This record gives sequence, structure tokens and C-alpha cells, in this order.
Amino acid sequence: MNYHSTANPLHISNFEEAVFKGLPDPTGLYMPMHIPKLPPAFFNQLPELSLAEIGFQVLRPYVGSEIDELTFKNIVDETLSFSIPLRQIHDQVYSLELFHGPTLAFKDVGARFLARVLGHFARLSNRSITVLVATSGDTGSAVAHGFYEVSNVDVVVLYPKGKVSDFQRRQMTTLGKNIQAIEIDGTFDDCQDLVKKAFLDRNLQDKYNLTSANSINVARFLPQMVYYFWAVAQLKSIYAPPKNLPVNVSVPSGNYGNLTAGLLAKRMGLGIDHFIAAANANNSFPNYLTTGSYSPQPSIATLSNAMDVGAPSNVRRIDALYNSDSNMIAQDVRSGSFSDQDCLQTIDYVYNQYKYILDPHGAIGYKALSLAPENGVSICLETAHPIKFKEVVEAVIPSPVPMPSHVQGNSKDENIISLNNDYPIFKEYLITSR
Ligand SMILES: *Cc1c(COP(=O)(O)O)cnc(C)c1O
Repeated sequence: MNYHSTANPLHISNFEEAVFKGLPDPTGLYMPMHIPKLPPAFFNQLPELSLAEIGFQVLRPYVGSEIDELTFKNIVDETLSFSIPLRQIHDQVYSLELFHGPTLAFKDVGARFLARVLGHFARLSNRSITVLVATSGDTGSAVAHGFYEVSNVDVVVLYPKGKVSDFQRRQMTTLGKNIQAIEIDGTFDDCQDLVKKAFLDRNLQDKYNLTSANSINVARFLPQMVYYFWAVAQLKSIYAPPKNLPVNVSVPSGNYGNLTAGLLAKRMGLGIDHFIAAANANNSFPNYLTTGSYSPQPSIATLSNAMDVGAPSNVRRIDALYNSDSNMIAQDVRSGSFSDQDCLQTIDYVYNQYKYILDPHGAIGYKALSLAPENGVSICLETAHPIKFKEVVEAVIPSPVPMPSHVQGNSKDENIISLNNDYPIFKEYLITSR
């Protein structure tokens, strides 16, 4: 499959180049040249297929002959090696739990796929690559875990000292092997600036094959399609709601990558009626749908902080899918903005009524179901485990949030390098450690 830039249809790359470059040019994002429709036979079989089988069939056309079939099958199997269960909250309202991966958030899916694809291409061309990533917490841990023990790839993750939670820091600093965590005496923006300078530094770039693991990379965004198919498969095989009920999916959104992946799944033929783009106070996208003009805003801090994005990048991809026609988008997507108070009330209400514990992101998604057409099946994406936002959740519900068994008792030693916020020092570190 070839990919073109949303800013320039003549700028075309194959899958490998799109993955290595991340961004085609300063103003565009990569989009697949065409979106294949899956055959009726696939949809008839869907309820009987496993998550990994669905992943293989959905993603295969986007990679094509660039990765041989057996290798690709292994990549998909390893990416999707944790469960993504659909749970009934009540009646026709379900939660798709995307938080059973190693770092307890849906970003594990994209990070694991990207890591394996990059590792494969690096080995094939006999290159060693270094992934540089700056993080305010969640992305760094998902990327670090995704790349852990992937050969030919080293990861250097920068985070602002004292500004990530202990839980997040330990997820980056206790892995070891090919993962090095660096704390910078500065802010997240300082970390981001150091990484940007390194990418622009030609003699570093040429010598060390630096790559980013940015969230807009096609290899992070495409695999997110798979769990929309998997949700419908489980709905049919486990719960079997009446056939004529339309299915609506609510997506807690920040940079809108998850929503874009769902829209692509619909284009491939998946029977989802409406998407609900659930926003917190960062309301550029819901405003776009109501006013028809898109104006990015500075981001506002909220309790659902992974959604605090004032200028969501993937709006360019959504525009590319709908010819920048907000009325066309609104035929498939409804969107609204909800407050921190809505978020807390929803966590409280859903726990009281149904004993189901939502995290602050899932709570915005649940609340936004109020925008869904009536009399349908509603699926709400639960994008993070509530334990990650324990302080917020436990202030509302009467009992402690249980710690998932696979992350219990991480007592491994931390390995941290401490650096000042200074580019020459950071560069020196990169050179001496490679
Ligand atoms: C990243 C993130 C989101 C937002 O997803 P986008 O694809 O950026 O819209 C929502 N919830 C959680 C927990 C996240 O980590």
C-alpha cells in the first residue's frame, strides 16, 4: 500500500517509508491511498474469528507485500496478545475494555505494532535504530513497553523530572535492556525541544538512524481499527442483541487518532451507525461540527488529561476522509464537550447503579452516549484502567480500585540517567552511549 500526504497528494511513500518518516512534510499526515472494502464473507465469519485473525485480515491490505505473510502474522499475534473484552454495563450499553495491555491503556496496541514493524524493517536492512521520545507520562511508558526486547532498536525516553507519577515513572525506568529512561531537569516542553533538536541535527541523524514514535505514525494509528471489528464480533457472538438495532460507538477523544481509526473501519464496511466523539473542555472538534469552521485552541487542563489537546492533529485525516465537509462528517459523527463535573458525576452514577468503575476518560465517553440516537446498542471505549487515575476515582467511589494482577508488585530497580536541560549535554550522552 502507498500513502500520500494530506497536504500534498503527489507526495507518496510506501509503508516502510511512511513508518520510518512518521510525518510526510511539516503540514501533512500520511493517509492510505485507498481504503479497501472487506468482502461479505469476512463479515459473515466475523463472530467466529479471534482477535488476532481479525487483526491480520483488517491490516494486511495496508502493508501488502512489503512484509511477508508469516512475519506479518507473527507481528499481529504479538501485538494483540492481551485480551480486549466487551463487557455489558447494563441493557444495551457496553464497555470495550482497552486497558488490559502492559501499560493499562489503549495506546499499547499502536505502540506494540509500531515497535514490531520498525524492528522488522531495521533487521531486514541490517540497521540499528534509536527511537527518541519525549513524554509527559503515558506515551513514554507505552512506547518503552512496546519496544522492550525488540532487537535492532534502542529507545531513549525523556521525561520531566518530578512531573510524572511514580507509577508512570516506574513503568519506564524498571525495564532496562534496550530501554533507557532520562529525567530532564525541566518541563515536558523542554524534553520535546531536546528531541526536536536531535532530529534536526544532521550529524546525529545520519550516524544513529534516529526515529520518532510519534502518535501520528501510520503504524500506531492503523492497528486501532482492529478493536472496532473485535467489539462487533463479540457483541454478536456473546450478547447477540436483536439484529436490526443500530450500533453506536462513543470514543473519548484527544488527538482524534482513535476516532479516525473507527471511521476507517466503517469505510472498510463495518456496520457502525454513529460515532460519538466525546470531548472534555477541549472542544475544538465539537465546535468544528457545529460551526463548520475549525479553529484550534490552546489546551485546557482537565481530569481526563490524556484528552487535553486543543489542536488535534488527526482532524486533518478526518477532513481527508470527508473532503473537508463538516456536514458530511456530522452524518457519521456526533460530538459534544463535557466538564470535569460531568466526569465525576458519571463515575459516581455508573458505580452506584451498575458497580462498574469508569476511569475519567471512559466517564466522558459514557456521558457522551447521551448524544447517541435512541434505541440502539451503545459501545463506549474504556481507554485506560481506572487504577491509573486512582486519586480521582477513589475520591468519588466508596471502595478502592483493585490493582490488576499483571502489574502488581513491580519491585525491580530503577535505572535513571539525570541530565540538565541542555542540548550539548544531551547530544554528548547520545554519542557516548550509542
Ligand atoms: C491518548 C488517550 C486518549 C485520546 O485518544 P486520541 O486517539 O488521542 O483521541 C483517550 N484516553 C486515554 C486514556 C488516552 O491515553
